[in-house]
Amino acid sequence: AKQEGRNGYRFYTRSLTEKANRRLEMEAGLRRALDLREFVLHYQPLISLTGGRVEGVEALVRWQPPGREIISPYHFIPLAEETGLIVALGDWVLQEACTQMKSWLDLGLRLDKVAVNLSAQQFRLSYLQERIRDILSESGLPPCRLELELTETTIMARGDEAGIQMAALKDQGVHLSIDDFGTGYSSLAYLRRFPLDKLKIDQSFVRDIPHDEGAAEITSTIIAMAKNLKLSVLAEGVETPEQLDFLTGRGCDSCQGFFFSRPLAADDFRHWMDRAAG
Ligand code: C2E
Ligand code: CA
Ligand code: CA
Ligand code: CA
Repeated sequence: AKQEGRNGYRFYTRSLTEKANRRLEMEAGLRRALDLREFVLHYQPLISLTGGRVEGVEALVRWQPPGREIISPYHFIPLAEETGLIVALGDWVLQEACTQMKSWLDLGLRLDKVAVNLSAQQFRLSYLQERIRDILSESGLPPCRLELELTETTIMARGDEAGIQMAALKDQGVHLSIDDFGTGYSSLAYLRRFPLDKLKIDQSFVRDIPHDEGAAEITSTIIAMAKNLKLSVLAEGVETPEQLDFLTGRGCDSCQGFFFSRPLAADDFRHWMDRAAG
């Protein structure tokens, strides 16, 4: 038994060390990837349910190490957040998304907005407003073409200062949306204090509509409340025609999901737009 315990202990410490090492390697890898510009953005269309036009795109980051498989943000965003690297990465994402959007508009693509995910650490920066203004002016993208996605948790963590930060961004003409709505601990009653434009219903609810009564009820309620608050409402993760029917029937304004398109590399997205328009 003693022997086993020692082996067990040894195994335990070794796996902890391995974990720590993997983490350090990954962190070093992320830093290197930033220097070497190994990140790419993919773009997923946001579809209006009144008329079916493409109203915008969401920019989603991926890590593309040369000669290796592309890495999902689920695998590196949490570490980027823990290490603070998310600030530099998020800055690159903003620059890249604004520059790309500007060139699409110059090419004549009919898109209203590019949506960019903003992490809690970026939202906390005192110079965020100035930084966004500089990125917009450097890229030449009009502020009204940029939408920033914040999660409930990001907003809640800032307390009263969240409202001040949001108002400063809104003053510039940037749009604000709440991402993953329904998964945090906030309520629409609380969120109404903030200058928001859009609410994005988390895909965990959308996944189970229309069959699951609970999910259907929650989704319908969120749509109705958003409308009462004069917020635009988008459903994420739409994969089936049944989901689309349900959402259209409830008066949802727009949606996003594999049913229309997966996130695509910039060139693929442009071709997708050509086909969607033609
Ligand atoms: P998110 O902001 O909620 O983005 C939506 C995620 O759902 C994307 O995953 C997208 O590919 C996926 N998705 C879209 N439609 C469907 C669908 O119909 N079915 C299913 N099952 N999934 C769908 P992705 O690109 O892997 O991004 C994951 C998360 O990583 C994002 O969730 C966001 O929280 C984070 N993220 C991505 N890019 C950035 C970024 O530039 N900055 C920050 N801070 N976070 C990012
Ligand atoms: Ca998002
Ligand atoms: Ca989301
Ligand atoms: Ca999500």
